[in-house]
Amino acid sequence: MKVEVGDLIKILLEAFPPNPKDLEKKDPIELIIKFILAGQNASERVINEAYKNLTSRFKSWEEALNAPDWQIAEAIKVAGYAYKKTNHIKQFLKFVAEHGWTLDWIKDLPPKEAIEILKGIKGIPSRSVRYILAFSFDMPVFPVDPHIKRVIRRLGILGNNATEEMISEYFENIEGIPHKELYLALKTHANKICAARKPKCLMCPVAELCYSVSPSVEYLKGTRRIRL
Ligand code: SF4
Repeated sequence: MKVEVGDLIKILLEAFPPNPKDLEKKDPIELIIKFILAGQNASERVINEAYKNLTSRFKSWEEALNAPDWQIAEAIKVAGYAYKKTNHIKQFLKFVAEHGWTLDWIKDLPPKEAIEILKGIKGIPSRSVRYILAFSFDMPVFPVDPHIKRVIRRLGILGNNATEEMISEYFENIEGIPHKELYLALKTHANKICAARKPKCLMCPVAELCYSVSPSVEYLKGTRRIRL
């Protein structure tokens, strides 16, 4: 028996309902500066500490933009690559200043245009752009990270060569999907059940629909499969 992807989405949303706090709209300037501070691998604790130091040292983003580089670098040094990140933060603040110290206008852009604009800001990883648009601007885009890509590939929805961009566009083209909720549900599923090394297929709420279900889950083999 074949099933729709909609069934899979429904099961995931029911199994992993989001914490309302995680759905709250995030300040885009704070979020983007935290992504810049994160760089390739800074921990959440370090990012928060660097951000706190930065916002304690300067009374406003305008003051930070006009400060000498060494002062910003000093404030964020805990996050590493302080001068490189200072440079990216200043370029970003200059961009915000040029738009009247607000990014609200982005929410009125077509998603594709907004994606290209954010991709042009140095220091923001391109895979984080959709996250920023979804969680700061409520735009109908679907963020994907390596963990979500792993789950989607295992489920067999788009095949083993599916890129993050392909997965984003696939879910953005399905009407009526709550993007943020599905993103959070897939994140939880990837962290708690469909782990990289040892997926817990016996505990998986979507095992019945999965192409990569463990062979030990014999009773599910050959029953239901996802239809695109
Ligand atoms: S059945 Fe196993 S491999 Fe498939 S999604 Fe669930 S945990 Fe992952």
